[in-house]
Amino acid sequence: MRKINLIVVHCTATRSNTKVTIEDLTQWHKARGFKTIGYHFVISQNGVVHNGRPLSDIGAHVEGMNANSIGICYIGGLNDKTSKPEDTRTPAQKESLLELLSQLKRVYPGAKICGHRDCSPDTNHNGKIDKWEYLKDCPCFDAIPEYEHL
Ligand SMILES: [Zn+2]
Repeated sequence: MRKINLIVVHCTATRSNTKVTIEDLTQWHKARGFKTIGYHFVISQNGVVHNGRPLSDIGAHVEGMNANSIGICYIGGLNDKTSKPEDTRTPAQKESLLELLSQLKRVYPGAKICGHRDCSPDTNHNGKIDKWEYLKDCPCFDAIPEYEHL
């Protein structure tokens, strides 16, 4: 098994009321040239956790940091009317995400949990990724403080 030191949370950046299946994501990612879906896990609005790429395989979800990370994606991330970035996680998604992250932390206690946007470059080298440094909004909430206790 490869070494895991990072767990990255993503959103699909689709409207919260839009149904997106793991098959859709696999197709989108193949269209971008990936061999299959880039994430290891996908969480639907109803809280069901779908398996994407096997954990033993390197994912394709965060530039430059795929080798030692796991990618988890929840369906949503955009307001269903305005399409603006928003934390659209349903209670079921939050519950499943917390459970999945807890399990993964038991297997990989040294892994840090963060959101995709926290992997943006630290342009001013102050040691943290500030909001203005975000390359994108994904996953549209602050994953680091929310899961710090795990
Ligand atoms: Zn992302």
